[in-house]
Amino acid sequence: MRALIAGAGPAGLYLAYLVQRRLPGWEVRVVEQNARDSTFGFGVVFSDRAFEFLRADDPETCDRVAPAMETWTDIAIVHRGERVVIDGIGFSAIGRLKFLQLLGAQLEAAGVSPIFQRSAVAENLNEFDLVVAADGANSEIRKTADFGTTVAPLGNRFAWFGTARRFNTLTQTFVQNEAGFFNAHHYRHSPSMSTFVFECDAATWRRAGFERMDEAATLAYCERVFADTLQGERLVSNKSVWRNFPKVRNARWSVGNRVLIGDAQRTAHFSIGSGTRLAMEDALALSKALAEFKDDVPAALAAFEAARRPVVEKLVAAADASADWYEQFPEHMKLAPREFAWSYIQRSGRIDPDRLRKIAPRFVDG
Ligand SMILES: Cc1cc2nc3c(=O)[nH]c(=O)nc-3n(C[C@H](O)[C@H](O)[C@H](O)COP(=O)(O)OP(=O)(O)OC[C@H]3O[C@@H](n4cnc5c(N)ncnc54)[C@H](O)[C@@H]3O)c2cc1C
Repeated sequence: MRALIAGAGPAGLYLAYLVQRRLPGWEVRVVEQNARDSTFGFGVVFSDRAFEFLRADDPETCDRVAPAMETWTDIAIVHRGERVVIDGIGFSAIGRLKFLQLLGAQLEAAGVSPIFQRSAVAENLNEFDLVVAADGANSEIRKTADFGTTVAPLGNRFAWFGTARRFNTLTQTFVQNEAGFFNAHHYRHSPSMSTFVFECDAATWRRAGFERMDEAATLAYCERVFADTLQGERLVSNKSVWRNFPKVRNARWSVGNRVLIGDAQRTAHFSIGSGTRLAMEDALALSKALAEFKDDVPAALAAFEAARRPVVEKLVAAADASADWYEQFPEHMKLAPREFAWSYIQRSGRIDPDRLRKIAPRFVDG
């Protein structure tokens, strides 16, 4: 059996490793359009304790990645200069490049070397028994069959920066200036670097004049807006262009022997820190189904979707609710800092007040 995996992001690298391990007779070809070690963005966070979601299924990967992560147990909301700490909500983070390198090394050790700087659309898809679109939100492979795809961009704009300033914990800082309203999601993802995602609503973006600014001017503007937060450290860019987050959905996850995983299948807004985890869980679920159904690929793909879709839809609903909150954040900023933090923590509809009291007693008592 021959499998083509399009994309060497978290979904593609991890799936290739799992298929190689679980189905050693298969030939796995991974094709990545970019050069090795060239990726966008800075860090990614995972909710909860490090990589524990993988522990039961795959302790090797968990042990390989977890030591490279930064972890903390609280989050902080800064509004009108006041810092409100919400205790008991833990996250872990890792640089995206470091993470891909760890997954890539594990895959190479299992005997598969991805082919870099080659687009998957240059492959003859009909030669493969299985074609996996793990090529991200703008998937080209997805366009080769009718998956019932919709892509809806959110209204807010964001740019993904880094900075050498270390933040103790995942912090959401909200700032207002003469042009409008700004938010930064910032957290450390390595001993020496932090991630800094800068976001604003469309009206603020226009008033600030970002349309006419090049990358250096944009960066300087963001540094001025968050001067108190950065305390003199510079922002660093890495393909940090302005983007609107796309809500990707697909009516069907597979067509014949072609299947979507990771962001190609659906996106989950970055404010709940789950896109990478979902991508890896897709890989786990798909590799299990393939191992169970062996040569009957369409049956494996149908079983994969039947088992996984309900779980994914629940999380995506939470991500959508969180994204909706961010789309309205200038309105929420009318609240006083503590009420604002309360509104923030309730935004995905997953934490009711009783549960919050158990998780974050200091915050609730405060
Ligand atoms: C600002 C921002 C912050 C985020 N923060 C977090 C976070 O904190 N935590 C979290 O879990 N998730 C976060 N995410 C989401 C996370 O990045 C994605 O969910 C995750 O990367 C999905 O993995 P993937 O492998 O499906 O896709 P990607 O990571 O997008 O990988 C797809 C790969 O396919 C390659 N590719 C594309 N087209 C082709 C082609 N035609 N041929 C060959 N290769 C191709 C790309 O170059 C890329 O390497 C964030 C996203 C954004 C935008």
